[in-house]
Amino acid sequence: MGNLPQDSGDALRLVRGLPGEVRLGEPLCHHTTFRIGGPAWCFFVPENREAFVEAISRARGEGIPWFVLGGGSNVLFHDRGFPGLVIATKGLLSLQANEEKFFAEAGVPLSALVSKGCSALAGIPGTVGGGLHMNAGTQAGSISRYVLSVEVLGHDGLPRRISVEECDFAYRSSRLQRLHLPVLGAEFTVPKVEATSTEELLWRRQSSQPVGLPSAGCIFRNPPNAPPAGWLIDRAGFKGARLGDALVSPKHANFICNLGRAKASEVLSLIERIREGVRRVFGVLLEPEIEIVWA
Ligand SMILES: Cc1cc2nc3c(=O)[nH]c(=O)nc-3n(C[C@H](O)[C@H](O)[C@H](O)COP(=O)(O)OP(=O)(O)OC[C@H]3O[C@@H](n4cnc5c(N)ncnc54)[C@H](O)[C@@H]3O)c2cc1C
Repeated sequence: MGNLPQDSGDALRLVRGLPGEVRLGEPLCHHTTFRIGGPAWCFFVPENREAFVEAISRARGEGIPWFVLGGGSNVLFHDRGFPGLVIATKGLLSLQANEEKFFAEAGVPLSALVSKGCSALAGIPGTVGGGLHMNAGTQAGSISRYVLSVEVLGHDGLPRRISVEECDFAYRSSRLQRLHLPVLGAEFTVPKVEATSTEELLWRRQSSQPVGLPSAGCIFRNPPNAPPAGWLIDRAGFKGARLGDALVSPKHANFICNLGRAKASEVLSLIERIREGVRRVFGVLLEPEIEIVWA
């Protein structure tokens, strides 16, 4: 995966002169909702989009592994961490609105979109960049339904705006994800009336999910032409299964929770056991919804 970085001097040189905060060896468990993940070789929080673009361009130019981190609510980092540059978007928070539409930068929390009327996203703990990357959503709809256009950093190193059609959004996937395109921000429209209220969605979540325990949300995508992943995992006998401090939630079998000191390796072993068990019992191969970063 690219050139392996050498020492801390190299890490500091990579982001030298860029406005933002840099930390060497930053534990990624501090930046994921799973509370799992070892140190990042270099952890950089750019202050503005220019620094975000430049940091990625430099890493690309030097062949150093890089990873864009939003709210960290859909990732499982290795216990050994990430041997490259992790660029966190939490400094990219600009939100400009008029009456019909608004532009939100990559680090804006999805909860801010809910406040603007995108109620289908109620309760999803991520950012605009992470939400667009995997087309986050609920039973009431996905983020793509509100998108007018997305601003990305092209492979040529230049920012450009692409239409919603070009993003090719589908169930928990997008072309942004397939082409590994960093998202700078997006323009959204807001429907006047939504079928499902924010309160109802939050209530459903509260009553069906292990809210309060560290997790990364649903581990697996719901498979096509089959019952939901949670149902399959439950009926294959994995509800409540535990490995170390990694627990298949007794409340919602598609969640793995961290009871305190769960290791990424334990979560991954549970994932493999569940996949194999569900395949054996139902003949269905579950695909992870979370991003497993095993660089
Ligand atoms: C309790 C809980 C409940 C959840 N419920 C739901 C739900 O109902 N529906 C749902 O869809 N998801 C749900 N999730 C999963 C998660 O919140 C969403 O997938 C969310 O969109 C992830 O956003 P993030 O900013 O946290 O992304 P991260 O976890 O930081 O990153 C996820 C992926 O997106 C990429 N990414 C992040 N920012 C950018 C960017 N600017 N440009 C390009 N790529 C980027 C990362 O590189 C990574 O590949 C839940 C998670 C938890 C913990």
